[in-house]
Amino acid sequence: MLLLNPGPVTLTERVRRSLTQPDLCHREGEFFDLQDEARERLLATYALDPVEWSAVLMTASGTGAVESMLAALVPESGRLLVVENGVYGERIAEICAQYRLAYARTAGPWMKPLDLDAIRSYLDVPSGKARFTHMAVVHHETTTGRLNDLRPLGQLCRAHGMNLLVDGVSSFGAEALDFTDSSLLAVAATANKCLHGVPGASFVIVRRSALAQATRRTYYLDLGRLSRLQDQRDTPFTPAVHAYYGLVEALREFAEQGGRLARYRHYAALAEQVRSGLAALGVESALPAGQWSVVLRAYRLPPGLSYATLHDGLKAEGFVIYAGQGDLSQTLFRISTMGNLTSADMDRFLKCFSRLLR
Ligand SMILES: *Cc1c(COP(=O)(O)O)cnc(C)c1O
Repeated sequence: MLLLNPGPVTLTERVRRSLTQPDLCHREGEFFDLQDEARERLLATYALDPVEWSAVLMTASGTGAVESMLAALVPESGRLLVVENGVYGERIAEICAQYRLAYARTAGPWMKPLDLDAIRSYLDVPSGKARFTHMAVVHHETTTGRLNDLRPLGQLCRAHGMNLLVDGVSSFGAEALDFTDSSLLAVAATANKCLHGVPGASFVIVRRSALAQATRRTYYLDLGRLSRLQDQRDTPFTPAVHAYYGLVEALREFAEQGGRLARYRHYAALAEQVRSGLAALGVESALPAGQWSVVLRAYRLPPGLSYATLHDGLKAEGFVIYAGQGDLSQTLFRISTMGNLTSADMDRFLKCFSRLLR
């Protein structure tokens, strides 16, 4: 079965085999070697300086990393602006509500790029009123396959003395991220999307300067404590050891294959192959060119073809596709090209799709 859903992804045999390495106690040196290697290789993905940045591992799905980041990095006196245009942006706001953070949302339409003028209007706070200290945004909004442009948001943050928190769960490892943006405080991500590991390990890449002042709202996901203990070759709880095996092997493979840019180019080629192949069958992209990611694209369901029929027909041929979320479930379907997939796989996928249309 080939997974064309946005994580977990189709594994390489190498990563799959790595899961059956020797049983490991998480209080032994061998585990801390594994943890150290994962943390170093995560920073190397974007050539980050370990003096300035910490890769903080945790046993959770991607949402756990996003939650850990928000709970730790918005101080008690802070105010967060949640910039959203999809399900994962909504989830950020839900996490803020759960932790009773001071926040506001700029909820934009899901099928449109972020409205910078609307965002700006939130930032021009009359004097005497509390200002926003932080902004949170989803980089690749997996709901629609939209890559949100972080550059103007960073500019706005720098101009207003704010810090940027990014959900990079479905972009980290493939899309460009500008860590030289001084407003960028942290990026949350996971092992089982663009890095091709297995579910169970996720992480936050965070500026060490921010960790020094981190807030302790959560016990298990306490980012500051996790980072401090991991720096000391320690861990507070039992980590998903096998998921860490998989992450390290996936990161070794990632480096050998040429790193982030090579992965970006591979994804871009596959995504374009699928897009042009579907276009030739009359299936339209949901977003206009230039707004989509290389990781996942959303398409309009062809008239007269229900998602269930499409899904079941493709599954019978060995492909798992993904439905639209929320109101989009009736009109869209999504194809992710993350994971161990080749151009020949996509060729076969397009042939199956074409047969189903007929
Ligand atoms: C997948 C995803 C998440 C996290 O989902 P989990 O199921 O918790 O791993 C968060 N944000 C985005 C943008 C995602 O694509």
